[in-house]
Amino acid sequence: MEVDQFPISILTHNITNFGSQNPKNERNSPIPSDPICKNSVLWGTSALQTDDEQDDPNDSSFHINELSEDEEESFLVPSDAEDEDDVKHVFQDIDSPLENPVDEEKYLVFESCLKKLIRMIPCMSETKCTSPLTQYRKETIGSYLSVEVRCQSGHTRLLWESQPRHGYQPLGNVLLSAAVLFSGSSFLTSQHMFKLLNVKSIDKTTYYKNQSMYLFPAINHHWKEEQKAVIQNIRERPLCLAGDRQLDNPGFSPKYSVYSLMDVASKKICSFSVEPVTPEETLEDSEKVGFQKAMGELQTMNAEVKMIVTDRSVAIQELLKDDYPGIVHLVDLWHLSKSIGNEVLMAAKHKDCEVLYEWVEAIRNHIWWSSCTCSKNPDLLIHKWKSVLQHVTNVHEWGGDSDCKACHHPPLPEEVVKNTKWLEKNSLPMNNSKR
Ligand SMILES: [Zn+2]
Ligand SMILES: [Zn+2]
Repeated sequence: MEVDQFPISILTHNITNFGSQNPKNERNSPIPSDPICKNSVLWGTSALQTDDEQDDPNDSSFHINELSEDEEESFLVPSDAEDEDDVKHVFQDIDSPLENPVDEEKYLVFESCLKKLIRMIPCMSETKCTSPLTQYRKETIGSYLSVEVRCQSGHTRLLWESQPRHGYQPLGNVLLSAAVLFSGSSFLTSQHMFKLLNVKSIDKTTYYKNQSMYLFPAINHHWKEEQKAVIQNIRERPLCLAGDRQLDNPGFSPKYSVYSLMDVASKKICSFSVEPVTPEETLEDSEKVGFQKAMGELQTMNAEVKMIVTDRSVAIQELLKDDYPGIVHLVDLWHLSKSIGNEVLMAAKHKDCEVLYEWVEAIRNHIWWSSCTCSKNPDLLIHKWKSVLQHVTNVHEWGGDSDCKACHHPPLPEEVVKNTKWLEKNSLPMNNSKR
């Protein structure tokens, strides 16, 4: 366990001391399933004690004050029972069929509560012995717990397992790995959380083993099924796809480049490819390869791609022009406005052009406005877009032949006109922004 990786490991240590008992002797488990993360506790060290015996006056850990009867009652009422499901009043038949292990409810069990349960059970070994159970032995495999018990007369038996198993594999460990991965959490953060709570959990090796043995094959299987269904649904109509590349570590030695293609109408990903980024090739090359593979997959499934929307990547623009002449290529507005904004920011870095910083947001908004109000008329779009060059010089009416002869905003209050840093015609910032 890599406690030292956590910046507040000291805190963890203090908290796990809460209610601590004598150090436990641990040995390797005889269960031949998972040598990495199991441990069991020897007989005797965890002998069942009464609540009084557990109270060690020399124990420096925290103590909870005893609750009065009233407080105990209010303590038992769920305070956050927003959901009706939280309180179940109906008795359920113990023999009712078992639910799917994924769907069935799981609970956080305290050891003290488990001991209370064991105390209620008589031995009931093969001799029908009714002696009380006085000792128990725990065995854990990751988050799994099994409890063996011994009665006053010395009979022992396996009493209980906390999780269903598939062979020797406790299902909770696989489901825990799945929950961490599918919720997009980091394993180390989850491990830290379990340590703070002092809940037994899986270790890193088990997590990665479960990923490669069960989770990745399951994801792959479901993705293939999903893709088949998506393609089945869209095969009947010509497609407009949105494509983009994502790097696992943007801007700093990325290892993988993921290219995804989404059907714009259904907003479903219909193809993607993951490419390792090698030092020999540029990021543009890996983007091209990713795009070609994702497109190739769709073409083998006979999808009819009519239109592709991407960012302003030059590599993809060239690739579409050369290799996919039948596909209409459009530039996505969000990327366009972002990259125009970035260009203005770059221009503002030039000497005496700092005033352009004031205009970045307005220019970004203007490309959105032009595009949304041009009624799909490309000429009008260009005229509206270019009108920004008038507005920034405090000119709001300019006439001419086009449908765009003036700004669409209401007359500006004097105060605004006075306080706005307008650009001067033919000034350096103005010429830079024109570019
Ligand atoms: Zn017995
Ligand atoms: Zn204006």
